[in-house]
Amino acid sequence: MSKKITIAIDGLSSTGKSTIAKMLAKKYNYIYVDTGAMYRAVTLYAMQNELIVNGVVESDALVNKLEEIVLSFVFNDRLGFAEMYLNEINVEKEIRTLAVSKLVSKIATISAVRKKLVAEQQSMGKRGGIVMDGRDIGSVVFPDAELKLFMTASADKRAFRRYKELIDRGDNVDYKEILENVVERDRIDSTRKDSPLIIDKDAIEIDNSDMGIKEQFERICTLVDRRLN
Ligand code: C5P
Repeated sequence: MSKKITIAIDGLSSTGKSTIAKMLAKKYNYIYVDTGAMYRAVTLYAMQNELIVNGVVESDALVNKLEEIVLSFVFNDRLGFAEMYLNEINVEKEIRTLAVSKLVSKIATISAVRKKLVAEQQSMGKRGGIVMDGRDIGSVVFPDAELKLFMTASADKRAFRRYKELIDRGDNVDYKEILENVVERDRIDSTRKDSPLIIDKDAIEIDNSDMGIKEQFERICTLVDRRLN
């Protein structure tokens, strides 16, 4: 059987991690796990169950409900990737709204939430052959991953990409608000106590501010192939 490695992709918000991760999973026939979707689904659960009051997360109440939150990924043949399900309901569209983006980083600071999600992520990736993207994949979830990438780009470029994505799917959003959200999420993610976003010592940094998808993908495939051979 051919060798299967673990590819960890971390980095700043809206750096195109999931686009690259999906392309890699397709090329190498690996499983792709979008861990941001899991934090977003927990956030949606908290919003739906009134566990966020005036922007303040009722952390203890949420932690008490964690067992009731069942997350699963279901592969969609038509789209070619797995979609996020929260308690058996497809929430792929709802978790990408700006309302969820504005709250998710607060939810992601809660250690009990991280503990639950990290355990699920480790279990999904224990056989290798996985591409996982997030903020703590190379540092916490899979510290032994054979390939660790850290993606960055200027805040403007990242906000514009996210803005375009939301406009293209019909959301009514303001560019400035998106830019503020991207910067604020990076700030919370990098300064939280539990598993902050860091550039792991083994990670290869890729700044894609001025790099197209094709160029990035070719560069990353060369790195993957080196580890496979
Ligand atoms: O990847 P995405 O931008 O969808 O992630 C949403 C948020 O989820 C991040 O801003 C971060 O707060 C949180 N997250 C995290 N750890 C991960 C993945 C995402 O804390 N592994």
